[in-house]
Amino acid sequence: DIKILRMGHRPQRDQRITTHVGLVGRAFGANGLFLTSSDEKIKKSIDDVSSRFGGDFEVKVGVSWRSVLKNWSGLIVHLTMYGERLVDKSSELKSIDQDILVVVGAEKVPGRVYELADLNISVTNQPHSEIAALAVLLDRIYDGKQLKKHFDGQVKVVPSENDKKVKYLD
Ligand code: SAM
Repeated sequence: DIKILRMGHRPQRDQRITTHVGLVGRAFGANGLFLTSSDEKIKKSIDDVSSRFGGDFEVKVGVSWRSVLKNWSGLIVHLTMYGERLVDKSSELKSIDQDILVVVGAEKVPGRVYELADLNISVTNQPHSEIAALAVLLDRIYDGKQLKKHFDGQVKVVPSENDKKVKYLD
């Protein structure tokens, strides 16, 4: 399993970004999102997508980051521009056979997170976005295979060259 811990979500400002952390996580092979904020709207919009498009992505809101980090039994990977370079750690990440918790921040992340993480990983050492960093990390961990993940939903898009084709299953 791969789950995501989203820290420091600011209810007004980060609404869309946090929703996208969940949607990208879900689409790219993760199984769940822990959100330190108790913003139910985010859970609702991600759950709506899962109920139509399928999959078993679980969203938990109002969690304490300390207890999620302390109780996690697998590996903790914190995404930060200050971490070790993903290009240097790719083969290590690919060979992990435990559950992975991926931690992403919004505003400044507490120093304790850097200590509690097993790996602090940067996707380049340039400042950019938690959504992009998550997407690239998942792609490296799964080595591209997540792009073929099957979702058992009621709504199924039929890939098409020049049309929007959707099947609705019951
Ligand atoms: N300024 C904040 C700090 O110093 O902790 C980070 C703000 S950044 C917009 C939000 C999140 O995006 C970070 O917490 C990190 O998870 C992710 N992020 C941004 N750039 C990154 C990079 N180059 N590599 C990995 N993660 C990155």
